[in-house]
Amino acid sequence: MRQVYLDYAATTPVHPEVQRVMGKYFNEVYGNPASLHAMGQEAYGAVEDVRATIADVLGSQSEEVLFTSGGTESDNCAVKGVAFALREKGNHIITSSIEHHAVLEACYFLQKNGFDITILPVDRYGIVDPDDVRKAITRSTILVSIMHANNEIGTIEPVEEIGTLCRERKVYFHTDAVQSFGSLNTRVDDLNVDLLSLSAHKFYGPKGVGVLYVRKGTRFVPLLHGGSQEFGKRASTLNVPGIMGLGKAVMLARDEQTSRVGHGMKLRDRLIHFITQSIEDTQLNGHPKQRLPNNCHVTIKNIEGESMLLKLDAVGIEVATGSACSSESLEPSHVLIATGISPVDAHGSLRFTVGRLTTEDDIAYVEQHLPRIIEELRIVSPFTKK
Ligand code: PLP
Repeated sequence: MRQVYLDYAATTPVHPEVQRVMGKYFNEVYGNPASLHAMGQEAYGAVEDVRATIADVLGSQSEEVLFTSGGTESDNCAVKGVAFALREKGNHIITSSIEHHAVLEACYFLQKNGFDITILPVDRYGIVDPDDVRKAITRSTILVSIMHANNEIGTIEPVEEIGTLCRERKVYFHTDAVQSFGSLNTRVDDLNVDLLSLSAHKFYGPKGVGVLYVRKGTRFVPLLHGGSQEFGKRASTLNVPGIMGLGKAVMLARDEQTSRVGHGMKLRDRLIHFITQSIEDTQLNGHPKQRLPNNCHVTIKNIEGESMLLKLDAVGIEVATGSACSSESLEPSHVLIATGISPVDAHGSLRFTVGRLTTEDDIAYVEQHLPRIIEELRIVSPFTKK
């Protein structure tokens, strides 16, 4: 059966060149970068080269790039790391209602431990109003964390503007750029951020490795205590093969950014156009223009997304009903609810995310099967007026 993978926001296949680079560091150069012998030092040198490359792409200094185990750890380290470091100065943190659970749950944890958390609303497209951030900042605000682009509906947030006003008010600003890296400009001085999270598996790198950028001078307490790796900010032996894969994936994302974005937009726009124009009672979620180039998120009224997902899967089409991380939960997506979508419509939503291996034929295959599946489900749907 044909397989059409349209869940690139959940994860991406590892690029063959990334795999090739990693192999060497499993089999030949397996030394610990903290070891003083030649093999350890070779691994150390290779890791530092990757750090310099990532710093170059982010427009930062090498010492500001920390390797982590992925987006979840980077987000947790950013939020809790600043919170615990600045506890004496203040206890107020501002975030938004559409953040990834890695930020929201870290904030809820802090709330249970005496911090004051403000969760800002979004408009119907999922956009945070910078003016709301401005009004929410008080004398005890120590951190603002607003994502660069949303993982479910693909909406791009006005982070440059939010970063500027945080700087004016001398409040640290963190952005989760896990979904935007490789598609949008993530240079830290353009975004005006103090902390930024990345995850390799979202841009054809391996799972379990990521980056936390921490601007020099930012007060920060490590989450993991132990050895003095990562400038004393993150203990644990470095995941050398993962870091080497991450480095290659970053270089490929940089070199192929224009072609990947162009390719994604063409296929995404074809999908959006097809679904919203030729299938009745459908609507695009997220912002029509300020959205990630590979994201098509739609509500298909009067049907459950889970039934559609299973029927699509039966013909080899792999999509998501909401955030990949909550795909086992039957709670309606917090992101869709935050944009004002009803719980029933939230359940009838599908996320299609295209990637570098998606073809026009793949989209044609969706166009061939989706209308039939929707029609079959609408006939038996209890929501359909008979
Ligand atoms: N932040 C966003 C916006 C994400 O989309 C994800 C993953 O879905 C994460 C954080 C978590 O990243 P990881 O899977 O590397 O822990």
